[in-house]
Amino acid sequence: MPKPVSHVVKRPGRKHGDPEVEIPVAEDLATVPGVPVREEDVSFYTRVYPLETQNIDKAADRDWVWTVYTEEVLEYRKRHDEINQPLVDAALHTGEIEPTGTPDLDQNVTVDIRLKARELGFGEVGFTKFDYRYAYASKKSWVKYEHAICVALEQDYLQTQTLPSLEAEFAHFGTYEIEGAIALDLADYIRSLGYHAQVHSPNDNSGAYIPMFVNAGLGQLGANGQLLSPHFGSRARLAIVTTDAPVSYDQPVDYGINKFCEICQVCVNRCPGRALLKERVWWRGTEKFKVIYERCRPVMARYEGCAVCIKVCPVQRYGMVPVMEHYVATGEVLGKGTDNLEGYTIRDKGYFGPGELPTFNREFFEMPHGRREEWLFEQFKEKLSKEGVPSVEELVSFATDVKEILEVGNSTRGDE
Ligand code: SF4
Ligand code: SF4
Repeated sequence: MPKPVSHVVKRPGRKHGDPEVEIPVAEDLATVPGVPVREEDVSFYTRVYPLETQNIDKAADRDWVWTVYTEEVLEYRKRHDEINQPLVDAALHTGEIEPTGTPDLDQNVTVDIRLKARELGFGEVGFTKFDYRYAYASKKSWVKYEHAICVALEQDYLQTQTLPSLEAEFAHFGTYEIEGAIALDLADYIRSLGYHAQVHSPNDNSGAYIPMFVNAGLGQLGANGQLLSPHFGSRARLAIVTTDAPVSYDQPVDYGINKFCEICQVCVNRCPGRALLKERVWWRGTEKFKVIYERCRPVMARYEGCAVCIKVCPVQRYGMVPVMEHYVATGEVLGKGTDNLEGYTIRDKGYFGPGELPTFNREFFEMPHGRREEWLFEQFKEKLSKEGVPSVEELVSFATDVKEILEVGNSTRGDE
């Protein structure tokens, strides 16, 4: 049944030079711009339980995934890292580079930076303040400039639809290789305008990026835990450039996604790991859908990054305009219940159509937890309770392992 429209969102076209698009938001989908937030709670949690990157807090399983990758994924990941690491290294020190030009106070830098970012290939560009409440504890003092330029690069459409597959991993990691390079180009451009620019690599995140992308009006948070952007949903890789250039901020937008996900639920129902929750919860001051990390990670690690939750999302598959137009016209979710949207193949397990899910045994979900040293302590405790006090040699070996971990220290780099 047709639905009355609450408001129409206008956004730039998908590619630079494309005409503007209009997204109708049905009345029953309208909630708030961005996501529901209790600002004082966000501040409280930041103070009392500061955010930290999973690359540190969950380093034990991030090491473990390399032991369960297939041979092909392992080889590809090594090749990717060789190409990508120099880009991540370069980004780390960009905040210290001095501007090369002289500021022109009559210039509208917001317009010019947006245009340059689009010319470089970014599909979504938005401006907001860098909200330090979402910065990781280990990165807070690294961030030098107060304005955040949020940029999203689309990953290849056709490769993405083959998820989960090695082909789709080429798209995933290949997009990072391009994004790392063009983010550096964007920073060079900003310096040529007379301002500083610091590149926050997509593979060495300085904080939780999605809340800032939402504040910059580039989408809303989906039930799959990802940013749903207007043109490519979650088929996007995110990076930030912070600057002291005098840019003006965009505003969060209500695309109707908060309610739409409650109705759609396709990713929730199709997740092979049963890692997605049906309902939103208040978490660190934000009302959001939570992902159960421990149910997701083992599937991602063993099945080429999984990402079925990206593949089956209608906003990713068809784009936000057709999805929202279809909802307004029919009250239904475009593609829901069809093999075209919901079907996927899991290596060794076969094809799963709507209503069908693969199963895994309990051992499949066992993996190391926490930081590296925490996991070592965990194993040591288990040994103590099972075998009693260890020998002097075992104690020395344990202490040596802990010392090695502490000496190497934690890296914030990862493969998001
Ligand atoms: S990556 Fe796979 S297992 Fe993880 S939440 Fe998405 S669909 Fe579920
Ligand atoms: S599949 Fe549906 S419920 Fe999941 S993120 Fe996409 S729109 Fe939301």
